[in-house]
Amino acid sequence: MQKGGTSMKLIIAAAIVIFSVIKYFSSSEVNEITGEKQYISLTKEDEIAMGINSAPQMAQEFGGLSRNAQYQELVKRVGAKVVNNSDAHKTNYPFQFYVLADNRTVNAFALPGGPIFITEALLTRLQNEDQLAGVLGHEVGHVIARHSAEQMSKQELSQGISGAAGVAAGDANSAYYAQVVANMVNMKYGRDDELESDDLGVRFMIQAGYNPEALIGVMDILEEASGGSQVPEFQSTHPSPSNRREKIKAAIEKYRNQ
Ligand SMILES: [Zn+2]
Repeated sequence: MQKGGTSMKLIIAAAIVIFSVIKYFSSSEVNEITGEKQYISLTKEDEIAMGINSAPQMAQEFGGLSRNAQYQELVKRVGAKVVNNSDAHKTNYPFQFYVLADNRTVNAFALPGGPIFITEALLTRLQNEDQLAGVLGHEVGHVIARHSAEQMSKQELSQGISGAAGVAAGDANSAYYAQVVANMVNMKYGRDDELESDDLGVRFMIQAGYNPEALIGVMDILEEASGGSQVPEFQSTHPSPSNRREKIKAAIEKYRNQ
């Protein structure tokens, strides 16, 4: 009886794993801008709705929107210039650019489907419009490469697998380790996502007529703001600024020669 129970659990566990993997790999499509094959269970419409619905709460986390009308206008204008004059406009994401009131957290981020935010703390540290275009171009890159949707689809996969591991072993420990593994998978992809967004940021900057070298200056500002360690958007999952500088230089060479 005991034995039968165990093999039944294993069969259920195997079924869960197989179901998760099939669901994941059957959701493959090619990204029109990056040319990458991606596994995403969310539709673009899901992403856009998710971004719009969570934008107010995200703003709330950072002290609401900045009341400085000049800041808001500047970020909207530069964001629109980056999107409208680059491949970014070929996507139908409704990009929106906002300044957050937070003047302590040096940060910028993108929600799936288009809402992009920069804190006053980061905006006021930037030295020129090109650097702002670099920050916004990088965030536009996260949206277009569909990084959060990709992460969510992976989460679904890893949750299926970690749930299965817990069922098979019948204790919390293996579920815990499965979660650790899942996090490591996500962390690895997180680094690649940052480098890909830097690359796309450079591409959109060049297309929109901005100086892509300015993105290297942004790395200096981020490093300085963090006192040599890493800053929020650029937390533990992020590659080191020196690594990013090298890749940014390589991207500039690549897109300038196209
Ligand atoms: Zn990023």
